[in-house]
Amino acid sequence: MKKINKVLIANRGEIALRIIRSLKEIDVKTVAIYSEADRKALHVREADEAVLLGPPPSNQSYLLGDKIIEVCKDLNVDAIHPGYGFLSENANFARKVNSAGIIFIGPSPESIEVMGDKISAKNAVTKFDIPLVPGTKDAITDVDEAKKKAEDIGYPILIKASAGGGGKGMRIVESADDFESQMKLAVSEATSAFGDGSVFIEKFITSPRHIEIQILGDTHGNIVHLFERECSIQRRHQKVIEEAPSAVLTPEIREKMGQAAIGVAKACNYFGAGTVEFIVDDKLNFYFLEMNTRLQVEHPVTEMITGIDLVKEQVRIAEGNELPFKQEDLSINGHSLEVRVYAEDPKNNFLPDIGKLKSYRRPQGPGVRVDDGFEEGMDIPIYYDPMIAKLVTHAADREKAIERMIRAIDEYNITGIETTLGFCKYVLKHEAFTSGNFDTKFIDNHYTPDVLESKLTEEEIELASAFAAQIMNENKKKSTEQTASQNGNAVSPWRKRNRQF
Ligand code: ADP
Ligand code: ADP
Ligand code: MG
Repeated sequence: MKKINKVLIANRGEIALRIIRSLKEIDVKTVAIYSEADRKALHVREADEAVLLGPPPSNQSYLLGDKIIEVCKDLNVDAIHPGYGFLSENANFARKVNSAGIIFIGPSPESIEVMGDKISAKNAVTKFDIPLVPGTKDAITDVDEAKKKAEDIGYPILIKASAGGGGKGMRIVESADDFESQMKLAVSEATSAFGDGSVFIEKFITSPRHIEIQILGDTHGNIVHLFERECSIQRRHQKVIEEAPSAVLTPEIREKMGQAAIGVAKACNYFGAGTVEFIVDDKLNFYFLEMNTRLQVEHPVTEMITGIDLVKEQVRIAEGNELPFKQEDLSINGHSLEVRVYAEDPKNNFLPDIGKLKSYRRPQGPGVRVDDGFEEGMDIPIYYDPMIAKLVTHAADREKAIERMIRAIDEYNITGIETTLGFCKYVLKHEAFTSGNFDTKFIDNHYTPDVLESKLTEEEIELASAFAAQIMNENKKKSTEQTASQNGNAVSPWRKRNRQF
């Protein structure tokens, strides 16, 4: 057991700030690192010390593992928190950190290695009776052999990069005709994006939901699950809205998935915080997809419903403490939603729309949490993930959490760039979402950019309609031919607008 007194956060943006906040609460000193693009960033300002690493591109700054370790030695740092992305799932980095006598706040390098590769992850869990999506067990290179396997599995299939992540390196193939061209694209994409061209084939689950289980394990072999997060609202296989609990799981399936997730964690002797992702079909059969061996972007929804601060638990575990709770101590309190506020244009294929935050005002009030790393006047750099903030709400039940989120989205004022806020509001009000009857294809099935075209909010439209109706009533009293025709003119523009919704 080693008390951690000082932590370097090997990350930037909202997650660096979020980690710093928890560390301050447990009286741990913090060291930030930053690139030239992040000189004015909040994580730099909020940390006790901050060190400039280099120019903006990540490979000259946030990915410089050796330099980061040197900074730790110079500043007497006890432990490194990698956040998500960047070096968080880099087994070699974790190994070097450990060899330098510094604690890596995360699992062992071996766990990262096994789970970092989707094929080795599937092979590792076979002994634990975990349901897997039908597919190939090994990397596949020969096109004819692959095509035969695809026939056996049955179309549609998914070609996936074994080293893939962040929704990249995935190709859906609907029929044998497209197989060869798609496979070639998948291999070259995997080679250029991940430096590893290994691909495998999986049955494409139609009507899939993405539901994942948060787990926590200590170095004494105790592992618990912290229930599920529903992450089915996605664009480009990447999440935009998450919630906990899921609107569709029964307590029985929740428990089964929780136990399966614990099995996956045991399969790689896991300790620390981790997430086991499952794909769930329309009959609520679930299949293991992959394990993310780090803190997840959407971890706040789990914190809201369990009351557990995952970053503080990560630190306690890294110090060698036993988990302070058992499975039976954990329960779900209310409902939590998260929307990811990306600097992207939902009217233009969700392409990044970076620039200056001309105005920026966060929502506040009961049950609202904003994890962000920006202030008014700051630039969103082009070098990194274009996420500005995570907006999280918590309430007694799902309906109230949705109402609260819509209120918070309306209160959020961001100008200067396009964001995903308006799109998220559209989703939250959609019948498919409120009923819980949705899957990962929500955008394909229910969204076209024209639904966001009106700049007026619905409240504004309602107010305008009510006002127009009032004028009409007053005018009616005068009951002359002339005023009647004026009414028609006054009301019609609002009526027309109303019809668009
Ligand atoms: P999460 O899995 O936590 O829900 P994402 O899939 O959006 O969230 O990934 C979190 C961040 O990590 C993103 O910035 C993403 O681009 C990055 N990321 C995840 N996996 C990889 C990977 N294998 N290689 C490179 N970047 C990755
Ligand atoms: P990544 O490492 O990029 O996060 P995942 O394997 O977790 O890759 O898949 C990302 C997303 O792709 C899932 O959340 C889901 O929407 C979709 N997906 C993955 N596998 C399947 C499958 N077999 N059938 C249908 N959709 C899938
Ligand atoms: Mg994933």
